[in-house]
Amino acid sequence: MGTCIHCGKPAGLFRSRHDACEARAQRRQAELLQRKVDLQRQVASAIVDPDQHEALRALVEKESGAGDLDPDAIRGAIAEGWRRSVERCLEDGILDAAEERQLMRLKSAYALTEEDLDVNGAHTRVVHAAVVRDLLNDIVPQRLHLDGPAPVNLQKGEKVVWMFHRCDYLEDKTKREMKGASQGASIRVMKGVYYRVGAFKGTPVYTTHRVHVDTGTMVVTDKHIYFTGPRKSFRVPYTKIVAFLPFDDGFGFVRDTQTAKPQVFRTGDGWFAQNLVVNLGRLAGG
Ligand SMILES: [Zn+2]
Repeated sequence: MGTCIHCGKPAGLFRSRHDACEARAQRRQAELLQRKVDLQRQVASAIVDPDQHEALRALVEKESGAGDLDPDAIRGAIAEGWRRSVERCLEDGILDAAEERQLMRLKSAYALTEEDLDVNGAHTRVVHAAVVRDLLNDIVPQRLHLDGPAPVNLQKGEKVVWMFHRCDYLEDKTKREMKGASQGASIRVMKGVYYRVGAFKGTPVYTTHRVHVDTGTMVVTDKHIYFTGPRKSFRVPYTKIVAFLPFDDGFGFVRDTQTAKPQVFRTGDGWFAQNLVVNLGRLAGG
C-alpha cells in the first residue's frame, strides 16, 4: 500500500497520490504562479506610473501577510518584474530619466541587489543607457564608482567615465588587407551621434584580417582612451582620432597619421562602447 505524497494517507496499491489531492495541488500551484505574475505586473505599472507604487506596496504587504509565498519568492517576483520592465523601457535603446528614477526607487524600496537585477544583464543595461543619455545631453557621465585608483596615470582633473575589463586589443595585419569589405563603415566624429541598438549587428570585431595583440583594461575618460595590458599600454587623446569604426561587439579608431592602421577593441557591447567614445570625442572637441 502506497501513501499519498500530498496528504500522507494510504493511496492504494501502486499509487503515490489521490487524484483529488493531485488536482488540488495543481490548482494551488497555478494560483501561486498567478499571484507572482500579478506582483510582476504591479511592478511594471509602478515603473510607468509613480502613483502605482502605493498599490504595489499594499500588494506586497498582503502577500507577506498571507504567507503562501515565502519572502524570497516575493522578492524574486519583484526582481523579475523589474527586469522585464527594463526590456520594455529599452526597446529603443534609451531609458528616459523618469523610468530610471522609478527603477531605482523600486530597487532601494525592496532592497533588490544588483545581482538580483543583473540576471540577463538588465541592471548593466540600465546603467549603460543612463550613461548614453547623459552624453546626448552633453554631460560627462559620473556613474562609475571606482574601488581604488584607476589603473592608468591620469592627467590633472581628468575624469574616468568607464572601464572595460578583459578587453581585447586587435590590430590589422597589413594596410592592404584592411581595405576588405569586412572593415565596416567608418564614422566621422560629428555632433550628437547616437547609434541605435542593432545598428551594426552582424559586423563582429574578429575577422581574418585582424590579429589579437593583447587583453587588458580599457579606461575611457573625458580626454583620452587608455589601454593597458601585459604586452601593450598606450593612451590616445580624442583630438588625435579621425574616425571611429563601429562593430557589433566593440569599436575601433584610426589616428590622424598617414600610416595609421585601425586599432580595434572588443569590449563585448558595441552599442554602448560606440555611443560612449564617439560622444566623449565630440564633447572633447575631437
Ligand atoms: Zn491524498
